[in-house]
Amino acid sequence: MNRGLKGLEERVLSQGLCTACGACLSLCPYLRSWQGRVVKLHDCGLEEGRCFVYCPRTEVDLDGICQKEFGQKYEKVEMGPVKNILMARARDPIWRKKAQSGGVVSALIDFALRKKALDAAILTPREADFLPEGRIVRDREDILTCAGSSYVSGPTLEALHKGPWQGEEKIGVVGLPCQAQALTRMRASSLERKTPVDRVGLVIGLFCTWALEYEQFHAFLNKRLGQSHMIKLEITPPPERLLKIHTNGSLHMIPIDEIRPFIRKGCQVCPDMTAELSDISAGTVEGIEGWNTMIIRSDRGEMLFKKAEAEGIVESKPMPEDHLGHLGEASLLKKRKAIEAIQKRGELLQK
Ligand SMILES: Cc1cc2nc3c(=O)[nH]c(=O)nc-3n(C[C@H](O)[C@H](O)[C@H](O)COP(=O)(O)OP(=O)(O)OC[C@H]3O[C@@H](n4cnc5c(N)ncnc54)[C@H](O)[C@@H]3O)c2cc1C
Repeated sequence: MNRGLKGLEERVLSQGLCTACGACLSLCPYLRSWQGRVVKLHDCGLEEGRCFVYCPRTEVDLDGICQKEFGQKYEKVEMGPVKNILMARARDPIWRKKAQSGGVVSALIDFALRKKALDAAILTPREADFLPEGRIVRDREDILTCAGSSYVSGPTLEALHKGPWQGEEKIGVVGLPCQAQALTRMRASSLERKTPVDRVGLVIGLFCTWALEYEQFHAFLNKRLGQSHMIKLEITPPPERLLKIHTNGSLHMIPIDEIRPFIRKGCQVCPDMTAELSDISAGTVEGIEGWNTMIIRSDRGEMLFKKAEAEGIVESKPMPEDHLGHLGEASLLKKRKAIEAIQKRGELLQK
């Protein structure tokens, strides 16, 4: 089997399984990002290439990766390696005002940069047209331009390969579960490193049930909202199940079923709702506005969170039992659905 661009094209790109995470971009001249898609410009003769090996939609030895990253096999099937699960929010209103949920993701990145635990971080700005791509941030002003969620997936990880980097910087990354998976593959790969994969010192993963495909979703929004300037998008849980779009002066509510056709096919085979291969994962808390669900997974994630809490950057409290139960169920449901989708496709893409 070809484990280069040919294999990537056959098994991922032509199957519609790409999530446009950006892991394969800016590594060679043959792949480009265009309108939220990865497109091949030319054939490549390599038998093995980083584009295939880094892709989160190709086979992976999950036990091997977890052993390397977390010192244990992939045993906690419900939602991956977990040290602690709690509710948290940023204390400084500057974050909560602009953020999607409790602002903990932005506040932790800001804290890590100020404490020099990181020198730079790769975030995803929420541009007016909602086409996400990676941005290298180094200060609070930059972080604020990225706060909030774009429910479209885009090539955030391209920024890691592309830079520009200023020397031996320690890098943090905030990304979706597919992007956290790609980062662990990069670290586990024995292929030559030409980009600063080994300098990624923190990964904050975002919960994700699915992400939308840019082109179709953008066309839909243009038709529904015209040129209105979108300020924030929110997805509300059942029974409401709405996409709420805050624009200048108005609130538009669209039933989720209307946007389901724009969910990426590549998300349907993804078994990971809680970004299991991150140092820290963050999501919303259903029914409790202004707070994050936080899953602390690794030693370095735990150390950062504890320091941030001790210095009054974030506050936390225990997660109510019913929310914990629901989180586990939702995570398992995504796995069940992914396995069904994979079986339906007749090929097992991930172990
Ligand atoms: C596509 C998508 C689907 C999601 N689905 C769920 C879900 O099903 N359940 C749930 O509980 N939470 C989900 N979330 C996570 C949730 O929306 C918040 O990101 C999370 O609660 C963190 O909130 P915060 O206030 O701490 O983040 P903030 O402080 O606002 O920071 C958000 C960070 O997210 C990054 N970001 C925004 N959009 C993207 C993107 N498209 N790709 C990569 N990075 C991005 C930004 O760089 C920013 O650093 C989803 C997020 C996205 C982007």
